[in-house]
Amino acid sequence: MLESNNPRRQSWVEIPEDSDFPIQNLPFGILSRNGGIKKVGVAIGNYAVDLSALYDFGYLDPHEFSHDHFQNDYLNDLLSLGKEKVRALRERISFLLSTDSNELKNDTKLNQILFKASELDMHLPVKIGDYTDFYSSEDHARNVGKMFRDPENALLPNWKHIPVGYHGRSSSIIPSGVAIHRPKGQTIPKDSDQPIFGPSKLLDFELEMAFITYPGKELGDSISTSEAEDYIFGMVIMNDWSARDIQKWEYVPLGPFLAKNFASSISTWIVTMDALEPFQTSGPVQDPEVLSYLKYEGNHHYDIHLDVMIKPENAEPTIVSQSNYKHMYWNMAQQLAHHTVNGCNIHGGDMMASGTISGPTPDSFGSMLEISWQGTKSITLSDGTERKFIQDKDTVIMKGYCHNEDVRIGFGELSTKVLPSK
Ligand code: CA
Repeated sequence: MLESNNPRRQSWVEIPEDSDFPIQNLPFGILSRNGGIKKVGVAIGNYAVDLSALYDFGYLDPHEFSHDHFQNDYLNDLLSLGKEKVRALRERISFLLSTDSNELKNDTKLNQILFKASELDMHLPVKIGDYTDFYSSEDHARNVGKMFRDPENALLPNWKHIPVGYHGRSSSIIPSGVAIHRPKGQTIPKDSDQPIFGPSKLLDFELEMAFITYPGKELGDSISTSEAEDYIFGMVIMNDWSARDIQKWEYVPLGPFLAKNFASSISTWIVTMDALEPFQTSGPVQDPEVLSYLKYEGNHHYDIHLDVMIKPENAEPTIVSQSNYKHMYWNMAQQLAHHTVNGCNIHGGDMMASGTISGPTPDSFGSMLEISWQGTKSITLSDGTERKFIQDKDTVIMKGYCHNEDVRIGFGELSTKVLPSK
């Protein structure tokens, strides 16, 4: 066990009991204060450590790191150092924040290193090179297959053999707190063969998790399932926004395009795979047996509770879905092995999303498409209004956390408000 994961380790920083960020988490992000320079930060309780200050005051090894790794608009330069160095960095920060050490605690310059999270602005943590979206939840794939194809043959023949995915767009991936405008596009009215243009009427969220990579191998080489986690830095919550009516008209034959690329929102703190290690769990038995390059040993699924809430403008949020990342059929190791099996290379800071994470029951479905069953039923929110899809001025909030008998770690909140079309 990594010492940073020791459930008995405590911090001298006061941490609320229900905090997503105890000393066993220490997620990485990009922060700024008062509109100033962007820096690498690590969250603890209701505070964050400015790693550039930590470096400048001599707490981090100058042979391993430079000031520019930490005073940086993105985490990519830090990720380029690879898993072992980033792991050692997190271990060092854990020690400095723990009750095993009072060096940082007693430093008179502590107020230049540790800041209240409420005083900070959080930014997109990585400059995302390539974004890939998988489709790896069996319950989601079955629900979509039942609605749009054949209830008796809901899964397409390839689904249990291939972690199906497509290449998305990275330019429109935005951090929590950035509002989106309702997308406009072509849709086909019911009982018509002529499309119309206008704001999407069926705007939807997709509850997903995404992982961020370290630099991979050379073009032409592959990453095996047993190597995969050496190339994964950590995870965020993702809301992969979708315009269902635009999607329905445009997706044949090449797949989703403008229905998907207007925005994908992510939470701003990247929880490392090291912090998530205690929450590994077994996945489903895969039947039929998968090809050998997709076989894996050990536990590569993760037990992460996920909540989705809709908050109308002047009302309290209502929980509309409670799902779990452990419901995935294909795990990250299989996704990365599949992605690179043809020799496709990955870069540090690439992002790969799970696909919508639905559980087996209607209260665990990961999209309004499924919750409203294609708009055939509605849910009632706290203010008495009803929803089949997302309305203007609604805020969609997603949260994720893991817990066992000793420790609870979380991802913070992913919150995105929908504004009317421009
Ligand atoms: Ca998606």
